[in-house]
Amino acid sequence: MNLATIRERAARDGLALTGWLRPGSGDGAPAGTRALLLLGHGGPEMWACFRAAPEAGDGNPHPLDRWSRRVIGALAAEIGATALFPFGGPPYQPFIRWTYAGEPIHQSKLGMAVHEERGLWSGWRGALALFEEIDLPPVIRGAHPCEGCAAPCRAACPVSAFTDAGYDVARCRAHLDSAAGAPCRARGCLARRACPVGARFAQSDEQGAFHLEAFRVA
Ligand code: SF4
Ligand code: SF4
Repeated sequence: MNLATIRERAARDGLALTGWLRPGSGDGAPAGTRALLLLGHGGPEMWACFRAAPEAGDGNPHPLDRWSRRVIGALAAEIGATALFPFGGPPYQPFIRWTYAGEPIHQSKLGMAVHEERGLWSGWRGALALFEEIDLPPVIRGAHPCEGCAAPCRAACPVSAFTDAGYDVARCRAHLDSAAGAPCRARGCLARRACPVGARFAQSDEQGAFHLEAFRVA
């Protein structure tokens, strides 16, 4: 088993192998884990696979989470791994810790993770805990994408929900529940869309609206 094989297999479900790490004793991985592989959004393929799946149209709650459990669970079973998910808690798996350790990402001026290549377009759907040895290339880190950036992301939020003091969730939610929030509801967070990094990884308007609605009603 190697990373290329797993990457190819994950791609059949539209999932990108976005990162990897060898977890330490304080990283919250299952006992005996030799490697954690992170899976998620890496372009339009994941959304296309999900939209074609039965979960997308069955009318039951949490369709994307149920799809993720099914396809990542099947992948894990095939390779003798354990599937882990960033949803379904509490308790929650420490995905944020894993992603910062396993990918070239940094904290952006919006607070959320910004990937050096994917920009703000990360969306982790699960992880595979492997219990046998596998070669893992080092995670190469470059410059922080926000260094020297004038932060068009912040400027794009119609209610200035992102400031040096942090993300004003209540202000954002109030806007989303108002008539003026229609553009955000139709396409997803406008601040996220305004970042020039990783534009080719951007979610479609439909996907953006789906995630925003999930946030709005949570
Ligand atoms: S727009 Fe600039 S400051 Fe904002 S997240 Fe993107 S790179 Fe960082
Ligand atoms: S969803 Fe809209 S209101 Fe909320 S932070 Fe993003 S741009 Fe601002």
